[in-house]
Order: sequence, then C-alpha cells, then structure tokens
Amino acid sequence: MATIEEVRVLLTKMPRKSLGFYPTSLHRLDVLSGELGVNLYAKRDDRSGISTFGGNKMRKLEYLLGDAVEQGADTVFTFGATQSNHAMQTAAACCKLGLKPVLYLVSVVEPNEDDVRANLLLDRIYGAEVHIVSPEPGETMTDMSARSREMAQQHADELRAQGGHPYIVPGGGASDVGSIGFVMGYIELMSQCQARCIKPRYVFHATGSGGTLAGLAAGRALVADTFENPQIVSIAVSAKSEGYEAQVADLANAALARLGAGDARVDAADLLVDTSYYGAGYEIPSPAGNDAIRRLARSEGVLTDPVYTGKAFAGLLDYVESGRIPQGSDVIFWHTGGATALFSESAIIGDLVCEG
Ligand SMILES: *Cc1c(COP(=O)(O)O)cnc(C)c1O
Repeated sequence: MATIEEVRVLLTKMPRKSLGFYPTSLHRLDVLSGELGVNLYAKRDDRSGISTFGGNKMRKLEYLLGDAVEQGADTVFTFGATQSNHAMQTAAACCKLGLKPVLYLVSVVEPNEDDVRANLLLDRIYGAEVHIVSPEPGETMTDMSARSREMAQQHADELRAQGGHPYIVPGGGASDVGSIGFVMGYIELMSQCQARCIKPRYVFHATGSGGTLAGLAAGRALVADTFENPQIVSIAVSAKSEGYEAQVADLANAALARLGAGDARVDAADLLVDTSYYGAGYEIPSPAGNDAIRRLARSEGVLTDPVYTGKAFAGLLDYVESGRIPQGSDVIFWHTGGATALFSESAIIGDLVCEG
C-alpha cells in the first residue's frame, strides 16, 4: 500500500519512453449529467496523442517500448485485428522512436485492398510492415490469432538469426510491462480527482485484452489505503473465457511485482467484468452500442466507436438508467479511443447512420 507520491517514485524506476500527452484531460459531461442525474466525467485517453488518433495503448507503449529500447531492439512485432487500434498506435510509437513496426493482423473483417480504411490505412502511412492473416477453412478467431503469433515468432527468430533485434509486444500490449502504463493512468486520474474534489464511485471502461484493467486494478490496489477507491466496471467487448478475471488478476500482480510494490495484491474477485454488452461479438456492431454513440455525440459532441467505447458507454448508460448506480454519484467514463473505426468497413459500423 502506498501514497500517490510513493507510486510515482516506483514508476520513475521503470524504463519508459515519453510518447503521449499526459495527463489526458478529465472533463464533466454537463448535458448528460443533467439528463442522467449523476456527475459524469470523461477521461480522454482518446486524445493521448501521438497523432490525432490517440488511445489507451499509448500508455502501455511508453513502458513497452521503453523496455524494447533498453533491450536494444530495432524491430517491434505486434498483433491484432486488421483494424486494431493497438497495432496502429504501436506503428505510430515505433516511428517516433526509430523502430521498425511489423504487424501481424488477423482479418476478422476482410479488408478491401482497393479501399483500405481507418487503422489499416494509417498503418500503411506509418510504413509498417503489414502481414494480413486470413482465416483458413474451419478456423476460429482464436486459432487464427494463435497462428498469427506463431508466424510472427518464426519471423522474429529469422531476424534474430540474421543479427537483428526483434522485440515482441503481445496483442493489446497486455503484459506486466504494458499494464504498468495503467498503474500510471490510475494514479493520474486519482490525482486529477483529488485536485478537483471529485469523488469517483465508478470508473467504466471497455475491456479487451485486459491490460488496461490489470493496470487500473493494480493502481487501485496500491493506493487502496489513501482513497475511498471507485468500483471499476469493465465492459467486455467480446466473449471471455471462464478464467478471464483470474488471468487479468495474474497480470495485475505481475505488474505489481515488477514495480516492486510490496504486498499490494489484486484478487480475481475484486474485478467486475460485465459481458452483457458486446452483442453478437468482437467487431460486430450492437444496437445499444450504436445508440450510445449517437447519444454521446448528439449531447456532448464526443465521438466513440462501435467496437469498444460505444459498447462500454452503452453499459454505463444502462447501469445508471436501471438504478444500479445511485443518483448523484461521481462516475468516470474512461474514453479509451478507437473512433477511427467510424471510418472503417461497413461491417464494423453497421446501421450507425441509418437511424433518423
Ligand atoms: C484496446 C482497446 C480497449 C481495451 O483495452 P485492453 O487493454 O485491451 O483491455 C478499449 N478501447 C479501445 C478503443 C481499445 O483500442
């Protein structure tokens, strides 16, 4: 257990490369707060930089690529879907640090080579080496992802044999190193809240690989004695295996161990992962998610996305409107980015603009 200052000292001992613009802003959503009867704040990691198209992966990449540079890497491999926000942010970060990005991307939605869109387009602008892994007959998304990791591993081994220095960043940047970025994020949020007398009772965010949640939960465990800590509500953006919470808790504890954080621990039972809002699946739009995108845009001008943040915001709206959150509570929506998906394939966007 530690104070904010003590956690900051632990964080400064970790190799890190400055990439984003921190702290990201925290602002009240006045119109929606009035409509919903809670004090709703947005934590804008969608505006983390480096480019116009930020996102939550940038915090993780500060520590991941800090580690890569310290290890003498020249090439960075990572994974995701063809419209992966993580892969795009990794490519951007690599450009800034003079590293070569190599992306192994699975086509959950098949890209059209004659009309390359959104993150895949940005990956090309960044000059990333892109390998698209398309499904083979009978292959599930899990199989395809596993195959993409094997292909990348083999490629990295070949580079190493030729004297190269590859560094492998897992999908979503979900490693103990990457999760430290969200220990930093949690401390940043709590400092902002403290300075402005905001008493967050709930923090909502979209959870995918679990790295963000692991870091937030680790940060929360670290300063548990200093604050009345909020409940973190993690809205899943895809089906989760039985052991997901345990896996995230392991990741959080590995991040705490790496930080040398003493006896703070995260228990799977501390985590609240809600799988009610992802709809038909990853990269498949949901009616409630698309409603939430329009509602936030039309009340506050803030853009979210159909794959992650729209679904997370739909979860937040439902929790508040169904009375699961007491009126008058201070609620944080952690905007993790992703709005490039608004310019992606129609299979990802669905009927977002068909409604009047
Ligand atoms: C990756 C991502 C998430 C989920 O973060 P994880 O750390 O993978 O759980 C949420 N929102 C957006 C926009 C993302 O790109």
